[in-house]
Amino acid sequence: MSGPPLRVVLAQPRGFCAGVERAIEIVERALQRFGPPVYVRHEIVHNRHVVETLESKGARFVDEVDQIPEGAVTVFSAHGVAASVERAAGRRQLEVIDAACPLVTKVHNEGQRYAAKGFEVVLIGHAGHPEVEGTMGRIDGRVHLISAAGEVEALQPADPDKLAFVTQTTLSVDDTRAVIEALRQRFPMIVGPDTRDICYATQNRQTAVRALAAEVDVILVVGARNSSNSNRLREIGASCGTPSHLIDSAEKLDRAWLEGATTVGVTAGASAPESLVQGVIAALRAHRDVTVETLAGIEENVHFRLPAQLAGPRAMAAAS
Ligand code: SF4
Repeated sequence: MSGPPLRVVLAQPRGFCAGVERAIEIVERALQRFGPPVYVRHEIVHNRHVVETLESKGARFVDEVDQIPEGAVTVFSAHGVAASVERAAGRRQLEVIDAACPLVTKVHNEGQRYAAKGFEVVLIGHAGHPEVEGTMGRIDGRVHLISAAGEVEALQPADPDKLAFVTQTTLSVDDTRAVIEALRQRFPMIVGPDTRDICYATQNRQTAVRALAAEVDVILVVGARNSSNSNRLREIGASCGTPSHLIDSAEKLDRAWLEGATTVGVTAGASAPESLVQGVIAALRAHRDVTVETLAGIEENVHFRLPAQLAGPRAMAAAS
């Protein structure tokens, strides 16, 4: 052992959310029911390890539907897709199973309702994220994308009194509140769901990382670089004054981060499997005498129904 004993404190909750579990199960069940290959547009969730595991079972990941053979079984990712993607899939007669998280679909529906009433919609989210592209492509009307309070001033809606907002599901609750406040200052008539579009899993993991930050010397967030909710966890840990690092697996652990630390907090983004968290703990054990405990936190009990095409019991082969 090359350092003093290390207390590892795990955040509760951490890791997989109900939308990610459902999306992975959809691909696994589709493989079982229809046989490989099953095509998946985009990473089913933002995690390379999840993608590689599904690839090894026969899933094929593509960027766009025109890379999929006509008529093939196709899964859309948990982030949701634009209506144009659905139309393109229809033209290729793809057998589509939509793994969009129901909480993303809820935001699509909100945006559509506002647009149908003649509102222009401000979408608070990050440009280039697939969920944002999907949401923008679902709203039939003008959508203004902003990500920070400083961008509110530049908005030029046709009618400032007919403006609504919706948000990406995986934002920082505090940052989003600041953007909404700026919107309300400039457009007092604006309507929207406050921060309620930010999903339960994102909110709970952010609450947990704040509690973790108060307890530990350094925080490790297990999650992918392109995972929005994982990045927000790292930012929140750091904003609480605790050095925080985002790593996608144990191989990225830098021992220099732990120099002088006697307590390390570990959490994981909603798309990071628990096996990666356990891998990080194993890597820590290789160098330090480690004890592990879990911080008290919210117990989640959320499950989403599978699409009708895949409902019913799993076959024995998949259960084993
Ligand atoms: S992070 Fe939230 S919105 Fe995204 S898949 Fe999980 S539950 Fe759904």
